[in-house]
Amino acid sequence: MTIIAIDGSSATGKGTLGLKLAQTFDYAYLDTGALYRGVAYKMMQAGDDLTDEIKATAVANGLSSAQMLHLQDESSIRTETCGKGASIVSSVPSVRQALFDFQRRFALNPIKKDGTPAKGAILDGRDIGTVICPDADFKFFLTARAEIRAQRRLKELQLRGLCVIYEDILSEIQARDKRDSERKTAPLKPAEDALIIDTSDMTADEVYARVVRYMEGRS
Ligand code: C5P
Repeated sequence: MTIIAIDGSSATGKGTLGLKLAQTFDYAYLDTGALYRGVAYKMMQAGDDLTDEIKATAVANGLSSAQMLHLQDESSIRTETCGKGASIVSSVPSVRQALFDFQRRFALNPIKKDGTPAKGAILDGRDIGTVICPDADFKFFLTARAEIRAQRRLKELQLRGLCVIYEDILSEIQARDKRDSERKTAPLKPAEDALIIDTSDMTADEVYARVVRYMEGRS
């Protein structure tokens, strides 16, 4: 069983890398940000105040394993508003606790989309290498300049037909980085044994090649 942890802030290329590795090695992949987005989405739908910690915890506790597994396929949670909401609810320790067991179980008993067991798990998030899987076989921490990430996000949202402004995206990314890095529980930070990769001036293929080279023990 192999566990690969990919952490880093938003739009650094975690998802692209995770999916590509999952395809290559036939491993199961979990986008853990989708869990926090799912909690925020449900609260926003219900008109709840996102800073209500008791409600957020109840929503997180109410998610079944099947719901958690499928949240990553939900396009409705991919908005900037939902990302901001996720960053608010994710700073609540009892919300993180409610989602911990599912992530841990997925890492130890990974199940692929078709329901069959996989030989390995790839999880991407903020605290995979530090909290969820401190015992992961490989840990990667992706970074990139905020301006580059804002450009990437702008392109992605425009491709989805959304009307967005670069400056708004940049300031939202900076605010989210600050909130995620400064929170007390499971802050965004590299594990001591993580390979840090600055993806600012790299293509997705270059990042992938760098990671595979590292996993093969070549550098
Ligand atoms: O990765 P994504 O942008 O979907 O994550 C949304 C938010 O969820 C992040 O800004 C972060 O606050 C939170 N998150 C987290 N821990 C994770 C994954 C995401 O706190 N493992």
